[in-house]
Amino acid sequence: PGKRLARAYALMQEALPGATRVFQMLDEKPQVKDVHDAVVIDRVKGKTVFEDVWFSYNGGEPVLKGVSFTVRPGEVLAIVGPSGAGKSTILNLLLRFYDPVRGRVLVDDRDIRTVKRRSLLDHIAVVTQDPFLFNTTVVENVHYGKPGATREEVIAALEAAGVAKEVEALEKGYDTVVGERGTRLSGGQKQRVTIARALLRDPAILLLDEATSNLDSESESVVQEALDRLMRNRTCIVVAHRLSTARKADRILVLEEGFVMEEGTHEELMAKGGIYRRLFDLQHDEDAMGARKS
Ligand code: ATP
Repeated sequence: PGKRLARAYALMQEALPGATRVFQMLDEKPQVKDVHDAVVIDRVKGKTVFEDVWFSYNGGEPVLKGVSFTVRPGEVLAIVGPSGAGKSTILNLLLRFYDPVRGRVLVDDRDIRTVKRRSLLDHIAVVTQDPFLFNTTVVENVHYGKPGATREEVIAALEAAGVAKEVEALEKGYDTVVGERGTRLSGGQKQRVTIARALLRDPAILLLDEATSNLDSESESVVQEALDRLMRNRTCIVVAHRLSTARKADRILVLEEGFVMEEGTHEELMAKGGIYRRLFDLQHDEDAMGARKS
């Protein structure tokens, strides 16, 4: 027993730093709080406006410097720009992880600071580069998008995302446990399961952080098909890494060092011959070079 006690003590010492970090995290106050008279929004059309938004993380250098744009309901806006330009920060502000230092973010003409955050998030879905799955069944992973949905609805969403057949073929079909972070599924399958989750939620606003693609071209085309379906009839803001995505958007915002440098359609920006045009020509050359090499 003496030895065991000593071992237990050693174990506790090892666990202590981890436990401290966990408790620090639990004690962390959220950066944004609902105002006392925050409203619940039931129905959202999806109009999204940034009005002269300035933002910096923890009082540091400004990351967004007077960003303004409007996305009409059902429109697709692509944001392009170099790394660190502030693209993801725009999505963070819309999700209210932070509030702007100056200016306003509006959804359906309502300052989102006056809305209960939970109710705002009910109308927004996010699909990121790194699909997040829980270590549970496929059905439960999708169901999480809309608690209360029936199994039939979940399966319909998997079908719409074009992954139902592949899931059915798994050992336990829809009830297969996907493994830690979805390791039992391929990259493209994981993406489509998260797309099914978003489809089930049927949000008015979709935020898409485009994958810089580690998928082979066949998986990529099925994922793209599922995404196209998800994007239909909603307001979409896409952080576009591929200019082929930007090209398909209704409008493009070119961001650089926190400033909106250009805004317009693909054709307008190509004709303008500015930053977007340069980015496009550059990527075009890279693609051509890649094709020649292979
Ligand atoms: P990328 O294409 O590389 O994802 P991005 O255009 O999305 O870049 P952001 O992630 O919005 O750029 O970052 C804009 C700036 O804010 C960068 O200088 C970045 O270092 C900084 N930044 C981002 N997140 C944080 C954070 N949580 N705390 C402090 N600074 C941050």
